[in-house]
Amino acid sequence: MMKLKGKGACPGIAIGVISYFGSSAPEISYKKIQDPVYELERVEKAKSAAKAQLLEMYEKALPELGKESAEIFEIQRALIDDTDYNNAIENIITSQKVNAEYAVAVASDNFAAMLSAMSDDYMCARSTDVSDVSQRVIRCLSGSSEKKFCSGKRIICAYDLTPSETFRMDRDNVLAFVTARGSSQSHTAILARIMGIPSVIGIGRELTPECDGKFAVVDGTEGIIYIDPTPQIMEDAERKRSAAERRRELAGEFIGRETVTADGKKVPVNANISSVSDLETAVGNDAEGIGLFRTEFLFMECGGLPSEEVQFEVYRSAAETMNGRKVIIRTIDIGADKKSDCFAIAHEDNPAMGFRGIRICLEREDIFKTQLKAIFRASAFGKLAVMFPMIISLKEVKMIKEIIKEVKNELRIMGTAFDEDLEIGIMIETPAAVMISDILAKEVDFFSIGTNDLTQYTLAADRMNPAVEKFYDPHHEAVKRMIKITAENAHAAGIKVGICGDLGSDPAMTEWLLNAGIDEFSVPPSEVLETRKRICEQASAGEPCSRVES
Ligand code: PEP
Ligand code: MG
Repeated sequence: MMKLKGKGACPGIAIGVISYFGSSAPEISYKKIQDPVYELERVEKAKSAAKAQLLEMYEKALPELGKESAEIFEIQRALIDDTDYNNAIENIITSQKVNAEYAVAVASDNFAAMLSAMSDDYMCARSTDVSDVSQRVIRCLSGSSEKKFCSGKRIICAYDLTPSETFRMDRDNVLAFVTARGSSQSHTAILARIMGIPSVIGIGRELTPECDGKFAVVDGTEGIIYIDPTPQIMEDAERKRSAAERRRELAGEFIGRETVTADGKKVPVNANISSVSDLETAVGNDAEGIGLFRTEFLFMECGGLPSEEVQFEVYRSAAETMNGRKVIIRTIDIGADKKSDCFAIAHEDNPAMGFRGIRICLEREDIFKTQLKAIFRASAFGKLAVMFPMIISLKEVKMIKEIIKEVKNELRIMGTAFDEDLEIGIMIETPAAVMISDILAKEVDFFSIGTNDLTQYTLAADRMNPAVEKFYDPHHEAVKRMIKITAENAHAAGIKVGICGDLGSDPAMTEWLLNAGIDEFSVPPSEVLETRKRICEQASAGEPCSRVES
């Protein structure tokens, strides 16, 4: 047996035969040419044909995957027209007098190498898009067609997969994706998650074409592929898979049901999302609302600061899609592991304790106000709430409320509609916020406990550092006491307290959290129904909050 470890990009278990997907790159011929003008015309024609194909793919992807994912093909279409890329192709053809196929291939290699050498994960991931789009142009030049995928249900292994290769795969026939390369920010990983196909990326060079045809088990949760698994691994995998299926089936019975504990307390189960394309899964899993919209991903993906208009459209779409169900929009939590080119954050030795979240927003008031304006404008189209990450002081909350006052005034002057009663909440994810939660509770409409950060800050264990993983224990008594203190102080002030950190979907903690007085849960979309089931089956010993109205 061979056990290869990478990064889990989409959870789940797959068991089956591997099909190694070799590069679909077309053969490149090298020819000396006499007529560069003719070659340049061929490039133009091939580019038009490639753009038409990408438009077709975009139109096909739009209803299936949502706007944000379909955008991949729009990004690729724009890449075809990139001035530097085109100048490079033209330069190679005219100066070296070589054929168009060769010139496109060389320009593509140079650009892809340049992008993959960048330290920024997003730009790095774009190198695959350059190769993908160039191969399409070359196929159009040479008249060759795209490589066909194997038929039948298979685990797809590859050195790397381009977004269009991933998208073209018949998802009913793909059991899992496993790639040697890849980053969790790549569009391929994003697509895999949206398709809900167990995936492991970043295995490294040990994943070779020799695995083709072999039997394997893929564990997308742990980020492992077992090639030629032992009977014991097979047995464990079968057990995990059927347990997951059984859980899903049982949880399915909870679609359309209100989440009410056995002793009659309503405890809504909301979904955490990172983009509007996650809304479909949230709605499909019958989330009672969105408890955490991590808006920083919008700033990480777009390659520049998203304008007020772009943000407004995103938040409006969330408000409209949820159709009266509450959507809690968290203002950007850039920093730590979430980097964005839009913010020139200097290198930090300890970024988790550094310049992040609300600290950036209160310093970059222009960016903060733009986001708040977009959120308030969108509040006229559904039921929105706003919350702020990384709070450590009353001063921060007061500053935020002042800025909100200004934003509301500006909107009133402009005659722009917005929800005057939009709820304002804060994340409780630092020990400082817990310890002054009695004071903070008097200032806001709700708390949402971010146990991912609360655990790292309480236990002094960086959540990104595998070396201290064993110290990062969300079940630690200190973390539990932090949660209890927060809930008690929230209820004493008559406000609700939710949980949006990963602990909220931990089956071992549902009962404990209910007893601690948690009023709302927000979990990944795929966990909504199972969480609802557990809540409905458990009594709540928590004191109902006096202001609860769901
Ligand atoms: C948290 O810290 O628990 C949380 C929900 O926020 P994030 O994981 O985005 O930091
Ligand atoms: Mg956090």
